[in-house]
Amino acid sequence: MSDLIQLLPDNIANQIAAGEVIQRPASVVKELLENSIDAGASRIEVNIKDSGKTLIQVVDNGKGMSAADALLCFERHATSKVRKAEDLFALATKGFRGEALASIAAIAHVQMNTRLEEGELGRTIEIEGSVVKTNEEAAVPQGTSFEIKNLFFNVPARRNFLKSDKVEFGHISDEFQRVVLAHPGIQFSLHHNGNELYHLPATTLRKRIVDVLGKKASDRLVPIEESTDIVALKGFVLKPEFARKTRGEQFLFVNDRFFKSSYFNHAISKAFEGLIPERSFPGYFLYMDVDPSKIDVNVHPTKTEIKFEEEKFIYSILLSSVRQALGKYNIAPTLDFEQETSFEIPHSMRSQPAVEPQISVNPEYNPFSSTSRTSSSGTGKTKENFSHAIKQQGFGSQEAKHEDWENFYEIKEEKAQEVTPVFEEAEILPNFGSFLVKDSYILAPGKSGFLVIHARRAIERIVYNEIINSFISNPIESQQLLFPIEKELSKQEGIHWTENASVLKQLGFSGEVNDEVLAVNAVPSVLEEETLSKSIDRILETLGHKDVEKGEVAHELVRSIARSAAMKRLELSNKEQIQSLIDRLFQCEDHAYSPSNKKVMETLDLALIDKKFE
Ligand code: ADP
Ligand code: MG
Repeated sequence: MSDLIQLLPDNIANQIAAGEVIQRPASVVKELLENSIDAGASRIEVNIKDSGKTLIQVVDNGKGMSAADALLCFERHATSKVRKAEDLFALATKGFRGEALASIAAIAHVQMNTRLEEGELGRTIEIEGSVVKTNEEAAVPQGTSFEIKNLFFNVPARRNFLKSDKVEFGHISDEFQRVVLAHPGIQFSLHHNGNELYHLPATTLRKRIVDVLGKKASDRLVPIEESTDIVALKGFVLKPEFARKTRGEQFLFVNDRFFKSSYFNHAISKAFEGLIPERSFPGYFLYMDVDPSKIDVNVHPTKTEIKFEEEKFIYSILLSSVRQALGKYNIAPTLDFEQETSFEIPHSMRSQPAVEPQISVNPEYNPFSSTSRTSSSGTGKTKENFSHAIKQQGFGSQEAKHEDWENFYEIKEEKAQEVTPVFEEAEILPNFGSFLVKDSYILAPGKSGFLVIHARRAIERIVYNEIINSFISNPIESQQLLFPIEKELSKQEGIHWTENASVLKQLGFSGEVNDEVLAVNAVPSVLEEETLSKSIDRILETLGHKDVEKGEVAHELVRSIARSAAMKRLELSNKEQIQSLIDRLFQCEDHAYSPSNKKVMETLDLALIDKKFE
């Protein structure tokens, strides 16, 4: 028998490694920008053609490289930034793996010019697919410039996988924004196909944000500043009225590095609770300084997720500082600050579960009568609008009715700040008992008709809300499986699973990826045996969905769990179980619609029934 194992040649190893670091043109832009910053540049120019498919050029006036370094920088694990293991725990630079340039050079045509300040002549180097074509002295400006052409020329699968120019440029622009917002003291410019899209002189943080977002942003910013032993926090949130329907203006930085965190995002969103419409996203630009030994940037190859040793403490600082700032600027004069601005609280909050939303139920309200009015303040308007809409459209025929709900929903979206999300607190007549029709609908008798509830969607809503409200502080109860469930995976799916392992764990899933097989050994207890396999499929699908990249993994996952939970056999065999389901449903803020935005309930009012007997 002969020996079979061989070391991969460097160029192949680099090409494989490149897949991790360089996913698209935007990754090149990010890596080059970070290198320029690490090199102490005060001016960085970016020039893109055809969304990076034709050219990515980054020019800096940083410290440059010696002749030897100029060649060495393209070697894998070649870095000037880490000398000893301890350095890894106190990183002050963006890069440290020494992988980026080796990766880029493995999959593109690269030209680099570089010159040290003291040196008279610099170097010019050309590399194509890890092969050095030119390496000579050259009269070049001080600093370093990179030109990247023919990206992925030798990885056709990657090249074909690239999205439209618009999408790819969108990614470049995102990366550019993340970098420039973290470094207002550096001058940047960005050109695309000859057009100057950004020209950003060195300035203050506030001015930089305004330069990036446009002048309109200037009077929208509310400053945040807070300093504790563990974290120094500064930055801005956008006033609540500028919250948007999509994420986008949400930026978190730690030690001048952009990162994503659904956990911290939750804290900030919570601070805005009650001030912005539901399903809208507050804008923020928040910068934390944390002792580098207390964070781990090493968890993700592209480094947008970061582990914090003191994340619970930081969570509560974020929540209280943002609340306080919103209050100080008289944006939230009615909020009660007594409790959460005290910095004594954070430590005790470590074990404290998230506070459940309080829903007031008005027993006087009759949803079936258009003349009834609620006595509780604030909700009256909703119902007036609602019954008004119903009257106008002639509530009666099935179709008109459907439209009415849609119209009502639009009213709600537009006026969400004045209008509370609850549209009715059904006065169901409990003595008569509600019952289940054909395993699908609950029919609840009311004073002037029936409330018809789609049972599975109701469950979906209940499970979704219960999990969303609590999983951050209380990981979802998980059940160990005696026999792990195995799933074959694509490499991509395996990566997705591993990347999201911590969120998945919080949600009750744990599993191991090995050799393109996923073995799931724990699942949320809410799921039932028969639906497990399907749920895992759905989770995998969710993880591969592109929106997930934008930090919505948790929401998507919870939605999937809720959907799976609703597929279970209905346990609604007696009056009590049905009543309890109705009660729990009405505890949910959004009880009229399921998490996937499908209608949960309908009224079958007397007028309609009367009509049938005409
Ligand atoms: P890392 O940034 O992780 O060290 P890179 O592959 O991105 O790895 O870069 C390798 C090395 O090349 C860096 O450590 C640095 O010494 C050098 N280098 C890269 N870009 C520049 C630049 N623009 N100016 C000066 N030196 C650079
Ligand atoms: Mg680097």
